Amino acid sequence: MSEYIAPLKDITFVLKHVVGLERIGKLPGCEEVTDDLAEAILEEAGKFSGNVLSPINRSGDREGAKWNDGVVTTPKGFKEAYWKYIEGGWSLIAGPTEYGGQGLPHSIATPVSEMLGSANMAFKLCPLLTNGAVEALVAHGSQQLKDVYLPKMVAGEWTGTMNLTEPQAGSDLALVRSKAIPQADGSYKISGQKIFITYGEHDYTENIVHLVLARIEGAPEGVKGISLFVVPKFLVNADGSLGARNDVKCASIEHKLGIHGSPTCVMLFGEEGGATGYVVGEPHRGLEYMFVMMNAARLGVGLEGVSIAERAYQHALVWARERVQGRPTVPVPASFGEKPKSVPIIYHPDVKRMLLTMRAYAEAMRALVYWTASCLDVAERSTDEKEKRMHQALVDLMIPIVKGWSTEMGIEVTSLGVQIHGGMGFIEETGAAQYYRDSRISAIYEGTTGIQANDLVGRKVGREGGQTMLALIVEMQKLLPLLDGANDVHLKAFGKQLAAGISELKRATEWIVTMWGADQGAVGAGAVHYLKLAGTVCGGWMMGRSALVAAKQLADGSSDLAFLKAKILTTRFYGDHIITLATGFADAITTGADSVLQMEEAYF
Ligand SMILES: Cc1cc2nc3c(=O)[nH]c(=O)nc-3n(C[C@H](O)[C@H](O)[C@H](O)COP(=O)(O)OP(=O)(O)OC[C@H]3O[C@@H](n4cnc5c(N)ncnc54)[C@H](O)[C@@H]3O)c2cc1C
Repeated sequence: MSEYIAPLKDITFVLKHVVGLERIGKLPGCEEVTDDLAEAILEEAGKFSGNVLSPINRSGDREGAKWNDGVVTTPKGFKEAYWKYIEGGWSLIAGPTEYGGQGLPHSIATPVSEMLGSANMAFKLCPLLTNGAVEALVAHGSQQLKDVYLPKMVAGEWTGTMNLTEPQAGSDLALVRSKAIPQADGSYKISGQKIFITYGEHDYTENIVHLVLARIEGAPEGVKGISLFVVPKFLVNADGSLGARNDVKCASIEHKLGIHGSPTCVMLFGEEGGATGYVVGEPHRGLEYMFVMMNAARLGVGLEGVSIAERAYQHALVWARERVQGRPTVPVPASFGEKPKSVPIIYHPDVKRMLLTMRAYAEAMRALVYWTASCLDVAERSTDEKEKRMHQALVDLMIPIVKGWSTEMGIEVTSLGVQIHGGMGFIEETGAAQYYRDSRISAIYEGTTGIQANDLVGRKVGREGGQTMLALIVEMQKLLPLLDGANDVHLKAFGKQLAAGISELKRATEWIVTMWGADQGAVGAGAVHYLKLAGTVCGGWMMGRSALVAAKQLADGSSDLAFLKAKILTTRFYGDHIITLATGFADAITTGADSVLQMEEAYF
């Protein structure tokens, strides 16, 4: 079983040359952000992930979280790892400085989070949700709520959860039924059942701060009547010490396909008269506030696709080098003898194709997620209003793409990881199957791929006449002459594939803009194809940018031949084997709706 080794070279390459940390360092509050600082932090994060989290990933999967009479115990070693995470200051990285955090930009926090997720996805979910809850409170909580909860949450002494889902309200949160009854002291009594709540109960910390969606008695129907509440597991006394146990309990935990180390809880609020809750911001605007949390969480879940793809790739690579099988059809090193009967499977072209597919997706997704995180930094911190607006529009456009495409491709990559292992991939011992199982949830929670795609074609493209996407397309096209002008046969060939992919994205975007007003059903039939098309092409744009830098470094005499040549060849592969899918997506979007729409429910 291979342990995780942080891919620091690619991570820092992308940060320096694709994201451009120099640009981030010029933003207010980011003055200390330099390549050196980033490298120092990332190196430590890599060590923590590899040495502390990775070794308990497999055992955590086997043992799973356990429930007993309302008490949840995480797998052996998880609690200790959590406190090492806290002592190492990892929870503070992106936390607001007013509440004890380091206030570092998303551009730095994102690669750190990638490594945590690669090493142990089940573990990483707890910090992910706490960070989301912190962001929602920072943005919308009253000063009093902030003062009571944020210092402890930022320090990781208390964790946060997101309580949206109910049995009848999943993708459609307008159906939320949990109730909130106003009390004379300004608090509320909350009651209702929430399901699938990640880390709703656990043994890491003494308190858990639940952010809960509920309807205040008499509130309007639908999304407009939903409010957001803070409901702590233990109430907090005026002096900050823990008070009485609140009326909230974990009724059970789910038995799942993957992420066994993380408890997924059924939560009961108000079984004994009502859980005390405090409204966040204004009543009835809860869903809007929750979207703040969901956007950050969606970026984080998109990143899970990168994390799990990287981990599965590393694992499959080790196997492909060790497993000996079959005669070679291509030249192999002389050390295998003159006519070897069998060689390590990495020499077979189809296995190389699978490894390259895994690697290409992991690198393209990494660059796209990091770049989106950097846009979020600019949107949040720039003092230039125009720049801020433009980057916010880019973030809004990219979030569903990053979330949907990266997680779907994460599944594809981990599936290839199983395939490379052959029969042993299907057997749990090798560990390849765990990544496949773990990856599956990322395309479901925080809004399924279908919901991300609806958001993309509707709010993000259809409603605004494709303005941001078409502007991004113009930006992407600026790379084409550079690729064509590069003195490298692979970059030139890649440039042609990228140009074709961009044209297909433009064709599909224009079709969606035209059809949005006329036939939303037809647009919906191809929405996921459009999301994948956008991810494929934007990922290609990132690969092209990376390969140009690699080619320049090679021309300048860099000695890092293996890394730079691999970057160029992986980019070429991405063009020939992945961007070429763009035409199929675009055709399905623009001509594929009839069969879907004419297939009546009764015909199934
Ligand atoms: C392990 C795990 C952890 C989770 N953690 C949390 C958590 O911490 N907090 C929390 O609140 N929730 C959590 N969830 C819940 C999760 O967010 C939901 O399961 C998810 O949003 C989907 O909702 P649903 O399960 O009700 O599926 P449904 O909404 O019933 O969807 C079923 C299918 O229908 C499709 N569909 C639904 N509506 C539409 C539409 N309008 N257009 C097109 N297709 C549509 C979906 O894409 C999907 O394929 C978790 C779930 C799991 C399994």
